[in-house]
Amino acid sequence: MKILVLDNVDSSAIEILKKNNFDVDVKNNLSNQDLENIISNYDVLIVRSQTKVTKSVIEKGKNLKIIARAGVGLDNIDVNSAKEKNIKVINSPSGNTISAAEHTLGLILAISRNIAFADKSMKEGKWERNKFVGYELNNKTLGIIGFGKIGSHLAKICKVIGMNILAYDPYIKNLEDEKMKLVSFDDVIQNSDYITLHLPLTEETKNLINIEIFRKMKKSAILINCSRGGIVNEDDLYIALKENIIKGAALDVFENEPLKDSKLIELGNKILLTPHLGASTYEAQINVAIDVANQIVELSKEYYV
Ligand code: NAD
Repeated sequence: MKILVLDNVDSSAIEILKKNNFDVDVKNNLSNQDLENIISNYDVLIVRSQTKVTKSVIEKGKNLKIIARAGVGLDNIDVNSAKEKNIKVINSPSGNTISAAEHTLGLILAISRNIAFADKSMKEGKWERNKFVGYELNNKTLGIIGFGKIGSHLAKICKVIGMNILAYDPYIKNLEDEKMKLVSFDDVIQNSDYITLHLPLTEETKNLINIEIFRKMKKSAILINCSRGGIVNEDDLYIALKENIIKGAALDVFENEPLKDSKLIELGNKILLTPHLGASTYEAQINVAIDVANQIVELSKEYYV
C-alpha cells in the first residue's frame, strides 16, 4: 500500500508504517491543488488539521482506501464523500485528551491571574502590580458543557484545585460525585464562574453560545473554548465583552482559522487567545501518530486477505 503523510505528522507513525513494509511518502505544506494532482497515486492519506480533504480531493483519489486524521475531530475531512466512495475514515479520539484538558486549565489559570497580560506589560518595561490583581480558583464554580473525555479529565484536575463542578451533557445520565453535579444547560450557564466548552461542532451546537446565552451568564463569568470554533458566535462574544455582559474569555479555537481581521483582538485584557494549541504537545502528537499508524496496519490486512 502506498501512503501519503502530510501536515508534519509525527515521525513515530512513519517508523511504524515503514517497519510494516508500507511505501511511505512524506510531504509537508502541500497545497490542495498539488494534493489533487498526486492523490491518485496513494491508497492511504494521513493528515492532521491543516489539509482540507475535500470532495474534490476524494474524487481524484481513485485508489484511496483509508483517510486517517492524526487527531480527534474529522471536520477537515469530507466524511460523507469518503463514505460514498467506500473509503474508511479513521482518527485518534483519545490521543490528545490530556493535552487539551491541560491547555484548558492553562487558559483558566492564565486569564484568572493575568499571566499573559502581565508578561506583555513587563516586556514593555512596566511594573503594574495593581492592574493585574487576579482571582483564586478555589471554591469557584466551573461549568463544563460536554462531559466526554476532555471535559471529564478537566473536571478531575479542577476538583483537586478546589473548584465545584457543574456539568451539562445530554448523553450522560449519571455523575456520582460530591463536588460534581450533572445539571441542565441553563443551570451551567447561570451559575458558573467559568464556563468551558468540550463538545463537538454539529448543526445542533453551531452558535450554541450566542448573545441570548451570554445575557444569562453571571456578569463575572469567564468563557473558555478549547473545543471547536463556531460553537461560540464570535460577533456576539465581541458584544458580550465590549458591553461587559460577561467579564472575560479565553479561546483556542475560532470560526475561521487562522484568525484574521477579527474584532476580538481589539478587546485587550478581556480576552486571551491561543492559536489552536490544545493538542500541540510533543506527547499528544506522538500518541495520535502511533494510534493512527497502528490502526492503518490493522486495517490494511483487510485488503490482503
Ligand atoms: P468526546 O466525544 O469524548 O466528548 C464530547 C462530549 O460532548 C460527549 O460526551 C457528548 O455527549 C457531548 N455532547 C455532544 N453534544 C452535546 C451538546 N449539544 N451539549 C453538551 N454536550 C454535548 O470528545 P473530546 O475528546 O472530549 O473532545 C471535545 C472537543 O474538543 C471536540 O470538539 C474536539 O474536537 C475538541 N478538541 C480540541 C482540541 C484543541 O486543539 N483545542 C484538542 C482535542 C479536542
